[in-house]
Amino acid sequence: MIELVSAQRCIACDKCVDVCPTDVFERGPDGIPLLARQEDCQTCFLCEANCPVDALFVSPLTRPLPEDPAVRDEAGLVGRGLLGSYRREIGWGHGRTPGSLRAIGPALGADGGKPIIS
Ligand code: SF4
Ligand code: SF4
Repeated sequence: MIELVSAQRCIACDKCVDVCPTDVFERGPDGIPLLARQEDCQTCFLCEANCPVDALFVSPLTRPLPEDPAVRDEAGLVGRGLLGSYRREIGWGHGRTPGSLRAIGPALGADGGKPIIS
């Protein structure tokens, strides 16, 4: 579930607003997206994957984290490498290797066609 938008990092590009399939975000007055409908989040990570500046943190849980502000402490999340970590893992972003090139799948036939089944 989406938990944090970093106002420090956000460049107000609206990508997260546009890609969210359940319309969780609302553009704030300063351009920084607000979590207007967090309860509608489907934990699909599309917003985090598309944020060009790693300004978002989507928790892998399907329910909100506890109210305790410590769990959304930005410095703590940055320190643990969690802001934009999904995007980093799938290899999206300048200078990264796309996850599709690292994915493990069935060996392809010599002509790149049907998989070789042994
Ligand atoms: S994780 Fe998916 S559903 Fe949740 S806010 Fe991001 S894009 Fe929207
Ligand atoms: S995608 Fe990232 S930089 Fe763009 S508006 Fe959303 S949080 Fe801000």
